[in-house]
Amino acid sequence: MSKQVYTFGGGANGASDDPRTRDKTIVGGKGANLAEMAGIGLPVPPGFTITTEECVRYLASGADFSPELRADVATALTHIEGSVGKSFGNAADPLLVSVRSGARVSMPGMMDTVLNLGLNDATVQGLAATSGDDRFAWDSYRRFIQMYSDVVLGIEHHLFEDALEIVKEDNGFFTDVEMEAEHWQALVGEYKDIVAEALGRPFPQDVQEQLWGAIRAVFDSWDSDRAKVYRRLNDIPGDWGTAVNVQAMVFGNMGDTSATGVAFTRDPATGERAYYGEWLVNAQGEDVVAGIRTPQYLTLKAREAANAKPLSMEEAMPAAYTELARVFDLLELHYKDMQDIEFTVERNKLWMLQTRSGKRTAKAALRMAVEMVGEGLIDEATAVRRIDPMALDQLLHPTLDPNAPRDILGKGLPASPGAASGAIVLDADTAEHRAELGEAVILVRVETSPEDIHGMHAAKGVLTARGGMTSHAAVVARGMGRPCVSGASAISIDMPSRTLQIGNRKLKEGDIITLDGATGDIMAGEVKTIEPELVGDFGTLMVWADQHRRMKVRANAETPADCRMARQFGAEGVGLCRTEHMFFEAGRISAVRQMILAEDEGGRRAALEKLLPEQRADFRAIFEVMAGLPVTIRLLDPPLHEFLPHGDAEFEELAQTIGIGAETLKRRAGELHEFNPMLGHRGCRLGITFPEIYEMQARAIFEAACDVAEASGEAVVPEVMIPLVATKRELEILRGLVDRTAVKVFEEKGRKLEYLVGTMIELPRAALMAGEIAEEAKFFSFGTNDLTQTTLGVSRDDAARFLGPYVEQGIYPRDPFVSLDVDGVGQLVKIAAERGRATRPDIKLGICGEHGGDPASIAFCEAQGLDYVSASPYRVPIARLAAAQAALG
Ligand code: PEP
Ligand code: MG
Repeated sequence: MSKQVYTFGGGANGASDDPRTRDKTIVGGKGANLAEMAGIGLPVPPGFTITTEECVRYLASGADFSPELRADVATALTHIEGSVGKSFGNAADPLLVSVRSGARVSMPGMMDTVLNLGLNDATVQGLAATSGDDRFAWDSYRRFIQMYSDVVLGIEHHLFEDALEIVKEDNGFFTDVEMEAEHWQALVGEYKDIVAEALGRPFPQDVQEQLWGAIRAVFDSWDSDRAKVYRRLNDIPGDWGTAVNVQAMVFGNMGDTSATGVAFTRDPATGERAYYGEWLVNAQGEDVVAGIRTPQYLTLKAREAANAKPLSMEEAMPAAYTELARVFDLLELHYKDMQDIEFTVERNKLWMLQTRSGKRTAKAALRMAVEMVGEGLIDEATAVRRIDPMALDQLLHPTLDPNAPRDILGKGLPASPGAASGAIVLDADTAEHRAELGEAVILVRVETSPEDIHGMHAAKGVLTARGGMTSHAAVVARGMGRPCVSGASAISIDMPSRTLQIGNRKLKEGDIITLDGATGDIMAGEVKTIEPELVGDFGTLMVWADQHRRMKVRANAETPADCRMARQFGAEGVGLCRTEHMFFEAGRISAVRQMILAEDEGGRRAALEKLLPEQRADFRAIFEVMAGLPVTIRLLDPPLHEFLPHGDAEFEELAQTIGIGAETLKRRAGELHEFNPMLGHRGCRLGITFPEIYEMQARAIFEAACDVAEASGEAVVPEVMIPLVATKRELEILRGLVDRTAVKVFEEKGRKLEYLVGTMIELPRAALMAGEIAEEAKFFSFGTNDLTQTTLGVSRDDAARFLGPYVEQGIYPRDPFVSLDVDGVGQLVKIAAERGRATRPDIKLGICGEHGGDPASIAFCEAQGLDYVSASPYRVPIARLAAAQAALG
């Protein structure tokens, strides 16, 4: 069996050659870094680590300590005793230790720390004698009882706080500083009474019992409810276990030459290369975080900037500060990353208690990565690897000023990031109307549908009471870069009175609210925002990312404005232009409805005639913006009834416009009703049954392409995409239609252009039959929204109601509409790619479902050798970085 207890620090720094001592999976993050710091000669109080393996064994064995473990811990204790020259439990000169948990990654859900362990009624006297400081000794003892009782014995913390308050009140003290040794001593007596009362037995005086109690508490904390919740939220497996770190105490509370603090080697908010941190003189670690005393600034510069009075550590303890600064530099050089550090100064001597790579904002992450390359600390590939692609989202939308006050009304799903404030409007037309008058509006709906598009476009943000992360509102808002909070179930809308209720607050149309699409928060009034910055370090890092990227990155975009945004963010083409949204534009919808409700082909063709110039203009505008790049245009996909009028008034209006009776129109509309429209008359089935629709669209595409090529000389390469194909024959028929239309247009225009016809793979049958389908397709684009829906048999519009518990119970590791179900849907993608390539080796393969903007899914696409991913414009930079990281492996 491998060793399960490893020592560090002390004599020869306890440096060990055993690679297990540096392995976070074995000794935990804290243990590995303590051993590593000791190894490079930094002042680390000597200690030992019990491995995570031992924790797993302990939990599996029904909470039993093995005799081997007891023996190894005893030996390790003698290492600490020998190093510091004190012995554990010795009444004359006691060794005190800290006991801390330390999993592979830092886990705030777990037991944190017990300090001053080893104190009892006898050793407290020894501590008083050796330190020459009674007050310190009794204060340490009462801290220990308080902490041990809270963390190990499970006695409520407030009982101790209350007792302390009473002693202070009785003596007329305002702060702990006024407490003398005798007061702390009296309090220790009261604390022991509290424990005896709560437990029915006295506070443990046996130091071995104290130690094993703490070790047991750390191991048990791995299975605490808090830890389980944290693991679930952070995708941490339950079988990792936690290590235990036992370390000789050093004291920051031994008078005015002692101190304790936390620090970052660079500013975690801005990334500036400046030491950043807080410290407290004459204090123990917990005091800094607990907020009992206000911590002081570390550096003179920071103190001056904040206009604060209490001296910085740089001024108050120059020698210890200089040593600390030397350690900061050493640690950065060693770990090649910004470090988050805990330290203690005991009577002017600096001790390091912890180091780890520090958490940082996206902005800080970029600045640090770029500057560290400049400093020669890391190379460009490391810089590219180090940035979390999703964190870039923080920088791609206006964000709320973190310092601005907020009045939170409620919460929904963080469906599309960014922040927006505006007046509540309850329907799309009002949104458009008020926006035209220059007002900032937030569209609030129960849920949105394609006919709300213009209102969504006009609005600064979208809020819905229903719908999940891939609901219509969420997908469209992300595509448009509009902040969106969806599925806010606390909202109820009353249309007749044009009011709404969020929780217990009543609001009316016109009231100002603010949305934070990154958190799902809904706030009353306007909250100040900060504009995104896409320059500087961000730009530099994207250039480096592009140098390592293999896959191309395109955008899902359907308006010239979206395309322009996409190009600005580095898109290398359009991967999906959904043409249906163009049908909803004001002034067209009536022709669209006429086309749908026509009794025969002649009627449909007449209506399509009106739409042709409009579609041509749409495509021309897009081709102009995307000149020189490929543009994939998908022919009409949604079921036709989505375009139909709602309510009597709209039917009447349409009847007037097209001169057919309202009753007839309603009957026709009724005929279009479907029980399951997602699996109904949509996608290429429309093209098969009403070929004139696809013919008009193909004509508009080729005419626009010829016109732009003629005007600009720069060729666009239209890629005509047929949706929802299941069989080769469907594609064969529709490709024929597109090709014939192209020939006609090229003849009329007297010019020939390169173009491709391909298909979406969004049905399991299409994936399985990809070998055959590839005979007709020059490209496949994986429509993983529908492919997920059809493979899982889960409706993308209804999934929000039950997917939450599914993910919580680990049925799917993540929402499969957000991150590709690699095991299931992924197999179909793999099969389709292989079979497609077998037929047509140069077939172009891409993905245009929402997964094209998800880093984990992008890594999967890289592994399958896809040619490109396509994501909403605001996700393009994220996809560029994720694709680079995937290529770097
Ligand atoms: C898809 O199904 O993945 C896709 C991109 O098409 P849509 O979302 O428009 O159905
Ligand atoms: Mg689809």
